[in-house]
Parts: sequence; structure tokens; C-alpha cells
Amino acid sequence: MTNTLDRLTTIWNLTLEKLKLKIDDARIFDSWFLNSSLQSLKDGKAVVIVNSKVAKISITTTYLGELRSCLNKVTESDYEISLIAKDELSSSNTSEKKKDTFFDNSSLQSKFTFENFVTGPSNIEAYNAARYVATNQASYNPLFIYSDSGLGKTHLMHSIGNFVKSKYPEKKVLYITSDNFIDEFIKFVRGDTEKNSLKEFFKDVDYLLIDDIQFLAGKTSTEKMFFNIFNMLYDSGKQIVITSDRSPKVLEGLEDRLVSRFDQGLSISIDKPEKKTIIEILKMKIMANGFDVNNFDEDALDYIASTNPKNIRTLEGTINRIFFINVTSNNLDRISLDIVKKAFAKDMEQVKKNEKLSPEKIIAYVSRYYNLTDTQLLSNVRTSQIAFARAIAMYLCRTLLDYSYKSIAKVFNKKDHTTVMAACERVDKSIKEDDITKKVIKQFTSQLKS
Ligand code: ADP
Ligand code: MG
Repeated sequence: MTNTLDRLTTIWNLTLEKLKLKIDDARIFDSWFLNSSLQSLKDGKAVVIVNSKVAKISITTTYLGELRSCLNKVTESDYEISLIAKDELSSSNTSEKKKDTFFDNSSLQSKFTFENFVTGPSNIEAYNAARYVATNQASYNPLFIYSDSGLGKTHLMHSIGNFVKSKYPEKKVLYITSDNFIDEFIKFVRGDTEKNSLKEFFKDVDYLLIDDIQFLAGKTSTEKMFFNIFNMLYDSGKQIVITSDRSPKVLEGLEDRLVSRFDQGLSISIDKPEKKTIIEILKMKIMANGFDVNNFDEDALDYIASTNPKNIRTLEGTINRIFFINVTSNNLDRISLDIVKKAFAKDMEQVKKNEKLSPEKIIAYVSRYYNLTDTQLLSNVRTSQIAFARAIAMYLCRTLLDYSYKSIAKVFNKKDHTTVMAACERVDKSIKEDDITKKVIKQFTSQLKS
């Protein structure tokens, strides 16, 4: 028995060595063949176990021929290869634990839990809803959480996933950003797989956690696939949690039928935290970094909280800066208001400068919204989508920055300021005639000004 196993392992290792030489991307190779093994070789058939269904599908569509030829070179025979995914094995063999996720690369981050999420009026509803669906699958479906950046959406999603994993280990959780979803989708399309494969592969998920859905906007075929997967999971009582930087109602660029599906569930926003919550978060992060909160004067904490009211992510940067100052000042006994103030005087100026609205910021924002690059937006390309996005960015420079047509023309590399004038007039007209443009401009204005 051991001998057979040894022999199979040796054959498999030699086969993979050969195959590796033929595949130019080591990362792809490693991810698809990680933990794979040769289970048996008999009657002209080689049974190979691979890590996941994705690996199986990808190998089948891309590498099977190569794999077979490598194996047959090593064995000097002619075997047909049959692939089995580990999770298929475990469903027939209950003693083996099921795998947690399909995408090995999309695993949950254990550092984000409900326990270290500080609650206050700004986020308590989202927190409660997240906890609720973590214990009551498909009670609110989908749960849609939206907020500006850095206010804890991703943290809550991972908390749901970690909670489910620890409480109900048999359940399958898949956390994925919509960006990664698109990447996976593209891989499937490139791999020349039948369209249903991706769907097939989501079939066993109990909790689908999709982060930053707004990036799916405008990607029509990916969106269609997502819509099918969404319906399939929804109809079979699986929990879907979605986050976005805006509410479902203003998710432009996504198909209405998908948005109305989102509306069926529960949408909750996370608002800007109040000072008290910020101070609590501040204390928690200080402790998490192994520092004693008691070494901070209350008014020092209070000051930090009032300089960073918007976003927890920048707050974390602030804390890191304080630790840095502390170390470079030979580990002061106390962190007082004076020290914090002095240390931040310069930084705050910089932050204020950075926060100031600029044409660059507008361009970056608008192009991101329309899934364009800044270069595309600033180019001379006149496809209708790019031209319209460009016109909107010009219009915003005019209305939000009060720039002259001439200076806008300069920013957008246009020789003639009348081009800018025409673009602004076009947007003006569109606002009057078209509700969508009106909404988009309103949304951009409020987001950019905040
Ligand atoms: P978003 O996904 O909304 O952009 P994140 O979830 O990535 O925001 O949060 C940014 C950072 O702020 C993370 O490190 C997260 O742990 C932290 N954070 C946000 N809200 C809270 C909170 N209420 N309690 C503790 N940490 C928080
Ligand atoms: Mg996030």
C-alpha cells in the first residue's frame, strides 16, 4: 500500500515538474495544482484529486491536454485523466471536513470581527442587521450596506463571514469583491468554459458576501452572470450580503432588474461616526496596537477625534503617526494635548490641502464612476460614453470650482474653450431633460463637496 502511494506521489511530482516548465505563470500553476495528488492509475485511467471546483474547471479547460501528455511521458503509457475536486469527495465522505471557500485567494480576514467593531448611533443598525443575518440565514435577503469609504462596510462583511465560519463550520462562505468577481469571470470566459460553470461553482455557497458592488456597473455581461447567480442563490435560500459606496437607488449603470432585486431586501447605511464613537474606536485601536490608553490625556484623544471626523481609515493613519512620534520622542510617559497638537499642526495643513477639491479629484472621481481611466477621460476619444463622462467632468469643474472655460480647456488639453462651453451646455440641457443625469450630477456634487 505504502509502496503504491509512494509510486503515485513520485509519478505525480514528476508530472507536475514537467508541466510547470510549460506554464509561464507560476501563480496560476500553484493555485490550480496546489495540494493536488494522483489517487490511482489503472485500466488506462488516472484519477487526479485537485483542491477545488475552480481548479478542476480551469485545468479541464486549459491544461488537460498538457497534463495528460506530461503524465504519459513520465509513465510511458497512455492514460486518460479524470479530475475530482476535493469538495466533491468530501460530500460523499462525511468524515472529511468540507473546504471553507471556493476561491482560495478570497479568504476571510480574521482580524475583522463583530467583537472589535465599535458601535454607535452611526453604525448600530448596520451592525445589528449584520449580526442578525449571520445567525438567521436569508432572513433579510439581500442585506445591502452602503456608506462612504472607510466607515466599516468591509469590516462588517468579514465579521459576518468569520462569525458564520466559527458558529456553523459546515456552511460555505464566499467573500469576494466585485472586482475579483469580474477577474474570475474573465478567467472563465478566457478559459473557454461553458457559461454555466461559474454558476455551477457558486451553487453550494451559503453566504455570498460581495464587496463594493458599484464596480460591477457598466460591465454588462459580468452583470448578467451575477444576476443569474444572485437569483439562483436567492431562490435556494442562500444569504447574500452586498456593500456599495451608494444606496441601491442611485446605483447608476446597473440594470434596473438587478437593482430592484437589491431593493427587495434590507438596505442600511453607515453614517459618519459621532465624536463619542470616534473616541471609542480610537481607544480600541490604541489597545489593539499594544499601547495603554491611560497614557493618553483625555483632551488629547478628544482633539484627535475632532480632527478626523469623517473616516476611520484616516483615523488609523493618525494613530500610527502618534505612535511614530512617541517612538521618535524617546517614548514619552504621557501623550498630552500639547504634544498631539504640535505634532499635527503641520500634518493638518497638508491634510486640508489634500482635501481641497481640484480638477484632478473631479477627473479621478468621474472616470472611476464610469469605469474609465483618467487618461481616457482626458483623451480626444469621442465615443459617446467617454465624451459624456468628459463633459460631466468639465461641467463639475465649472460649477464646483468656478473655473473659467479657458482654464478648463487647459486642464482637458483642449485648444479651444468653446469645446468646453458646448460640453457644459450639453450637460445643462441633459439635466433639464433627463432624470438620470440630474441624479448623477446631484450625487457627484454632494460626494465631491463632502
Ligand atoms: P469601508 O469598507 O466602508 O471602506 P472598512 O471596513 O475597510 O471601510 O474600514 C476601514 C478601517 O476602519 C478598517 O480598518 C476597520 O477595521 C476600521 N473601522 C471602521 N469602522 C469601525 C468600527 N466601527 N469599529 C472599529 N473599526 C472600524
Ligand atoms: Mg470596503
